[in-house]
Amino acid sequence: MTSNGEILVIGSGFAGFWAAVAAKRFAGAQADVTLISPEPVLQIRPRLYEASPETLGVDLLPLLDKVAVDFTQGKAAGLDPEAKTVSLADGGELSYDRLIVATGSRMRRPPVPGAETAYSVDTQAEAIALDIRLAEIARKGTAPTIAVVGAGFTGIELVLELRDRLLAHGGAEAAERARIVLIDRADVVGPELGPGPRPVIESALSEARVELQLGARISELARDRVSFADGSSLAVDAVALATGMAAAPFTAQIPGERDRLGRILVDAALRAPDAPEIFVAGDAAAADTGDGHKALQSCQHAGQLGRVAGENAARDLLGEASVPYKQLRYLTCLDLGRSGAVVTKGWDRRIERIGAEGKALKRFINTKLIYPPVGGSVEALFAGSNAALIESFDLLAVEAA
Ligand SMILES: Cc1cc2nc3c(=O)[nH]c(=O)nc-3n(C[C@H](O)[C@H](O)[C@H](O)COP(=O)(O)OP(=O)(O)OC[C@H]3O[C@@H](n4cnc5c(N)ncnc54)[C@H](O)[C@@H]3O)c2cc1C
Repeated sequence: MTSNGEILVIGSGFAGFWAAVAAKRFAGAQADVTLISPEPVLQIRPRLYEASPETLGVDLLPLLDKVAVDFTQGKAAGLDPEAKTVSLADGGELSYDRLIVATGSRMRRPPVPGAETAYSVDTQAEAIALDIRLAEIARKGTAPTIAVVGAGFTGIELVLELRDRLLAHGGAEAAERARIVLIDRADVVGPELGPGPRPVIESALSEARVELQLGARISELARDRVSFADGSSLAVDAVALATGMAAAPFTAQIPGERDRLGRILVDAALRAPDAPEIFVAGDAAAADTGDGHKALQSCQHAGQLGRVAGENAARDLLGEASVPYKQLRYLTCLDLGRSGAVVTKGWDRRIERIGAEGKALKRFINTKLIYPPVGGSVEALFAGSNAALIESFDLLAVEAA
């Protein structure tokens, strides 16, 4: 059988990886599928607040090889939707018949002087840099001060790991005596999480002796200081940012409307309406989940958006009708360090599990569910790329153990 054309996927995150596998599953030999990324690695971003960040990447080459998806190393720099080409930062150029943009997101640093000096856990490299600093702090054995700016999902998960991270680096004294400060301009922790899980989160922060500085506006950052708009400042041994994400810069090249996070407003098939051969998935896409909600910049949405975008790019190339993206189940599972985890269901975030029960589910998600079937069969990879199959899986009905 001869190929009907080339499907190009940009980005090897949860969306891009599953999009490439789904496209190949649907099209088989009728399409060539190529994944472009700076490295053939799936960074497990949801775990980057944890210890040992250097272990949190999956080598994708053996998996892509199994399902006959090609890999091109590079960073996409330019897009010409008329000519249907993507140019690479190193000067190369690739043509496509259908394109899937899955370039993900990047943390938005606050617009204050010195913001670039702060640590973060946005990428594996940044998480490793923070870990090296935590090891230095642990070795000093004094009473360090560590600040985290941003009391959303990531900031809460990070701040609740910090004592154990120091301990893991042999810093028992530093872990015990550390002053850990969580800073946000909002007046509450987890503003976007709503009031449901807040008491559980507040109690975990209090048990972990995390100081809160809420309603606080930072005006300047330095390696050793956080300065506030009211003129006060905090001397720190490290400051890490967890100040929210926006679509990665490449998304700006796609013609069309975008939301305040820079995401392309896609249709139900996940197509960019102003560029019919381009599909957008993951953190780069603002898609309706099928019940009036917008998909979040989250791993659970990214993987599913990727699966649907991949299948639809292949369907479109082969002249078949697209399937609509739909994701009606929504769960959040927030790690609360030694206090376990809180699991909520639905957009109104009703609490389903807390404590050790919640933690068991978080462990299952973080160590199994979000990983591709490394070492698994071609059939397992193709099954994992099937959006309908994945949507029918009720995580809360599965015993985490
Ligand atoms: C610390 C942290 C904790 C998180 N916790 C959770 C959680 O508990 N639950 C949850 O659901 N989500 C969580 N998230 C969010 C989740 O990680 C993201 O929503 C998810 O990774 C998005 O997947 P993606 O494939 O769209 O993008 P990404 O994972 O960002 O992958 C994008 C890919 O595109 C590549 N790329 C970017 N630009 C280019 C270019 N120009 N050319 C070529 N390649 C490019 C990148 O190198 C990368 O391979 C967390 C994120 C962080 C940082």
